[in-house]
Amino acid sequence: MSNRVDPNLIKELREYGLKDAGKCYNCGNCTAICDLSTPENPFPRKMVRYVQLGQKEKILKSPEPWLCYYCGDCSIRCPREADPGETMMVLRRYLTSLYDWTGFSKKFYTSEKFETTAVAAIGILVGLGMIFWGIANHAMIDWKHADVSSVWSTAGMEIADLVMASILSFFLLTNLFRCVKLVMGDYFKKVPLKMYYEEFKYLLVQFATQKQFDGCKTKGNRARWIAHLAIMTGYATIFLLVVVFLNGLPFMGINFLKFQRGWASMGHVNEISIFNPLRLLGYYSFFALMYGTSYVIYSRLKKTAPQFKNTHSTDWMFLILLQATAITGILINLGHIFNWVFFSYAIYVIHMMVAIPMLVLEVPFAKWAHLAYRPVVLMLMKVKGRYISEYEEIKGAVLEPEVAL
Ligand code: SF4
Ligand code: SF4
Repeated sequence: MSNRVDPNLIKELREYGLKDAGKCYNCGNCTAICDLSTPENPFPRKMVRYVQLGQKEKILKSPEPWLCYYCGDCSIRCPREADPGETMMVLRRYLTSLYDWTGFSKKFYTSEKFETTAVAAIGILVGLGMIFWGIANHAMIDWKHADVSSVWSTAGMEIADLVMASILSFFLLTNLFRCVKLVMGDYFKKVPLKMYYEEFKYLLVQFATQKQFDGCKTKGNRARWIAHLAIMTGYATIFLLVVVFLNGLPFMGINFLKFQRGWASMGHVNEISIFNPLRLLGYYSFFALMYGTSYVIYSRLKKTAPQFKNTHSTDWMFLILLQATAITGILINLGHIFNWVFFSYAIYVIHMMVAIPMLVLEVPFAKWAHLAYRPVVLMLMKVKGRYISEYEEIKGAVLEPEVAL
């Protein structure tokens, strides 16, 4: 592994929010108290040291930033107030931008102007597109019933959904592939594919439960884990409902489009039971997203814990877009229930103007990408550990001890 030093690293990391890493005097207290640190992957001291010494290449290949769930315990206990937890957070932003081959993520994280302009530009383009589409369908619009599918056809929305999902998946998966290659290093080619396949279940469990997060025993972490899980499951559920099951599951008797858009307006208000699973899932998403985002927004405003002390502009943008998407989503549903015709159509356009920029920018290039990187890196560490124990000598030279730089 190269030891080339980048003298500009700290300066570069300041653009991602780095503040106090320079104060660290390398005592190791933080690594000793971190519940998630292991002998194979010790952190956060090692990462703080890499930052101080300009070890950019080592940072690039490090899995550790993804193994930290930012409980903040290390920051509380650091005798130098060097805020190692925040350094780990900054490194996650930095790594996200380094994995991204388009350079878009870097711009998004390092320039507030670019971030705001990108969100506004995509939102305006979407809004204009929806309005022109509506005008083109003018003759078909139902002005008596709040039924947005009379303005924006189901088939058209489905195609648009699939095109967008394919493009976003392409960017996310190519960035993820770079992450896997870097983190696995020499093991990338050595580990048989079968082993990745066998451990894939572990990735799914980590993704669905965020179990590792709950491994931090810091006071108050359980509440943060619940909020984190609520945001993750709320979002994943609505994403599946809208993108994958837009046309529903025949055995459930309704499709999600009907639930979200037209069912009440078409006189079907009583047709769909309150206990219909699809309908319940839609409401679950709303309440989970509202609970999770409100908890985090409150904590950041009140700075209730070290991890809420420094809020990067992209953190605010993420929370605002997510909450606005949830609120406008439920308003569409209410508009249909009470048959507020113009309101329903207008709020649907606004909903798309916030939901689409959030998806386009956050999924492959920013915060939502963390949702993919974390469980993948956790799985990689499991695969690597298994390979070492099954194919290589464990004792001695293979496991890299924490560097005493
Ligand atoms: S970050 Fe703080 S606790 Fe950790 S090694 Fe540095 S001074 Fe010690
Ligand atoms: S924030 Fe928590 S999980 Fe992350 S390095 Fe510090 S103690 Fe460990």
